[in-house]
Amino acid sequence: MKQQQLHVGILGATGMVGQQYIHLLENHPWFTVTFLAASERSAGKTFADAVAGRWHAQGDMPQKIRNMRVHTVDDIRAAKESCSFVFSALDSEIAKIYESQYARAGIPVVSNASAHRQDPDVPMLIPEINADHIAIIPLQQRQRGWNKGFIAVKPNCSLQSYLTPLYALHQKYRVKQVIVSTMQAVSGAGHPGVASLDIIDNVVPFINGEEEKTEQEPLKIWGQIEGNAIIPSQGICIAAHCNRVPTLNGHLACVSVSFANKPTKEEIISAWKSFRGMPQELKLPMAPEHPIIYRDEPDRPQVRLDRDADKGMATTVGRLRECPVLDWRFVGLSHNTIRGAAGGGILNAELLVAKGFIL
Ligand code: NAP
Repeated sequence: MKQQQLHVGILGATGMVGQQYIHLLENHPWFTVTFLAASERSAGKTFADAVAGRWHAQGDMPQKIRNMRVHTVDDIRAAKESCSFVFSALDSEIAKIYESQYARAGIPVVSNASAHRQDPDVPMLIPEINADHIAIIPLQQRQRGWNKGFIAVKPNCSLQSYLTPLYALHQKYRVKQVIVSTMQAVSGAGHPGVASLDIIDNVVPFINGEEEKTEQEPLKIWGQIEGNAIIPSQGICIAAHCNRVPTLNGHLACVSVSFANKPTKEEIISAWKSFRGMPQELKLPMAPEHPIIYRDEPDRPQVRLDRDADKGMATTVGRLRECPVLDWRFVGLSHNTIRGAAGGGILNAELLVAKGFIL
């Protein structure tokens, strides 16, 4: 698919997710970064000065970004002059204030923050699962009196490690109950995040708000548009335990699941291996070739070995075995700042461009 280059902005450009956007967009075939915004702490500085000593993305900071000036996030006029849409990697409280102001000003917002995830007229996208939810956008614009602008979000990073593998099975076998324990990397808490003295040699069995998001967001993603709202799916019950562990990147999930029609092991593996979604059909640049990678070694997936699979955009699953309590259990893994954050946001934007919502 041939696409004209679009100018894009990044709100929260200096944070863990913002830096990952900058890294992933360096040679993007459709998007060029032309606007950066962050807090008063960074505003007015060059990007290199603003993140001095805290560049955490892979490789070196891209040369053409180093000298770009960081704006305050309320400089919406400058954003409007320089870009077609923005990625938002703002803290959620700040996102709540500014994302709708950008949308009202005619700038589409593709967000990582939780601020608008539960708004019934805002699509919360994993494009392999619910690309069709973008059909709510014209209703969102009409209800809010917005013209060109809108908000589309991606879900919490914790559920990316297991939701697509469950969805691949749900289509035919209907998932009923899920018990999931996540082991989440420190980068998931942003920078500076969890103090080293709290996490080295430790596991913290609490991440504020994470279990609620892990249990509720999948229901909206599996929901349907009815009237002018996305109605969450009924009849699936999820229980989550979310833990912070001393890994850098990559959220691991141990999952037990029951089904209305219990599949065989071979049927599960075949459903995972053959699963493809809209991003693969459209050949979007950020789409993984195989959204789900099944590994049959007894000790995979492992965080360090598998988090970067297919550009960090695939979910790797393994350790599939019968569960004596529910039907089946497995381990899933995805990269939290790529698939779970910036890479997922870029994939959402590519879908929105391909479907004509961002021009
Ligand atoms: P982070 O490292 O703490 O970065 C936060 C960003 O927000 C920085 O650019 C910061 O700018 C900016 N910011 C903070 N206060 C601000 C203010 N008052 N006005 C304007 N900008 C302000 O956090 P992160 O991990 O990148 O997360 C960003 C968002 O993505 C959050 O909503 C988070 O929940 C979500 N998310 C994160 C992950 C992950 O794996 N980390 C995954 C999925 C979703 P300064 O540098 O100038 O302070």
